[in-house]
Amino acid sequence: MAQLSDDCFAFAGPLMPVADAERLIAERVAPVDGQEIVPLRAATGRVLANDVVAPIDLPPFDNSAVDGYAVRAGDLAGEGETRLTVIDRAAAGHAADHALNAGEAIRIFTGAPMPDNADTVFMQEDCKVEAGAVVVPPGLKRGANRRLAGEDVRAGVVALPAGRRLAVQHIALAAALGLTEVEVRRRARVALFSTGDEIVEPGTKLPRAALYDANRYLLAGMAARLGAEVTDLGILRDEPKALARAIAAAALDHDLVLTSGGVSTGEADHVRAAIESIGRIVFWRLAIKPGRPVAMGVIRGGNAGDGAAFVGVPGNPVAAFVTFARVVRPLLLRLAGALPEPLIALPARAAFSYKKRKGRREYVRVALRAGPDGGIAAFKHGQDGAGVLTSLTETDGLAELPEDVTGVTPGTTVGFLPYASLVG
Ligand code: AMP
Ligand code: MG
Repeated sequence: MAQLSDDCFAFAGPLMPVADAERLIAERVAPVDGQEIVPLRAATGRVLANDVVAPIDLPPFDNSAVDGYAVRAGDLAGEGETRLTVIDRAAAGHAADHALNAGEAIRIFTGAPMPDNADTVFMQEDCKVEAGAVVVPPGLKRGANRRLAGEDVRAGVVALPAGRRLAVQHIALAAALGLTEVEVRRRARVALFSTGDEIVEPGTKLPRAALYDANRYLLAGMAARLGAEVTDLGILRDEPKALARAIAAAALDHDLVLTSGGVSTGEADHVRAAIESIGRIVFWRLAIKPGRPVAMGVIRGGNAGDGAAFVGVPGNPVAAFVTFARVVRPLLLRLAGALPEPLIALPARAAFSYKKRKGRREYVRVALRAGPDGGIAAFKHGQDGAGVLTSLTETDGLAELPEDVTGVTPGTTVGFLPYASLVG
């Protein structure tokens, strides 16, 4: 994080474009130091510290892709059927005892090694079986239904690159290559606070004028799904000195301090001032809706002297969700040493009208349902408020409207970001 404290990256303009914030994060945030070896079973969601080089070919040997008959393509008649004598049988896990000679076939099953001299496999559905023989049709290409050794992965190549965040399919590949453990980076350590005099812990009595804390649950879950180790540090009062003290203390042994609430310009919004007293703000207003007030900064002396990152997302839960996706997600991936995983908005047809201001990026909560013309369309939720949690629970994702767009009408193609892609 040391680079973020470099003053020339302080942003003086009124509203920072989302792309600039993301570029700043990509260029200026350094991954955490430290790595560990973990068993494959515990490696889901971890980030590879080094390339995984394939120790073997995958598959390790030529084998049949189907149940059927292994033949030599050279024996087949150009036109018309060919009758071959069946001389042996090869099931998965068992090689045939014989090599093929002219005019012969071997009964073979999926995954069994290709017999010597065989180069092609007929599917059993295409064959006629006679006593001791098989009759195969014309027209099958040499090499059909055969899987070559190394066609998936060649021994010696990089099968999984350093920085890959391991999902189940990556774990499966490592297992197929015979690995039992992998070297991963240590998890990014995140300290999490909610702020606000009105916020109370679920499970306690709800006083007048108070709200149960939703954001810590939202943000802890999102950060954990991105592989972070989250320390939940509770709720802070709207009190500048206490905020500064608690955040500075948390920064000592965390890579990122994440707060919600208190970053707008209200008289009780003290988080920005608190950060300025213990570190530096890099930006605090983004050209984004919902979520314009979102602060990013560095806490001096935090993270064992390197400077811990700070992000303060707005208190409204929908704004917290959107800004997490656009600011905290890329920051956490960078800290974790992960390769970039850009969010790719898929084209969807809008079934709504929407007016938008130019110059900022806006996110509309939408549900995917059958549209007027029968195809799938994106329907806007009835409630726009950034505090309306059901607008998240009753929808499937966000329609992302870029800076230059001024409106949407029914039929317009919009970019759709499914919630699943935003939360890890
Ligand atoms: P703030 O960003 O502090 O001005 O808060 C904006 C709105 O979000 C206010 O209505 C807060 O009550 C609400 N809010 C703040 N923090 C939370 C939280 N942790 N859970 C639910 N709502 C919150
Ligand atoms: Mg507040």
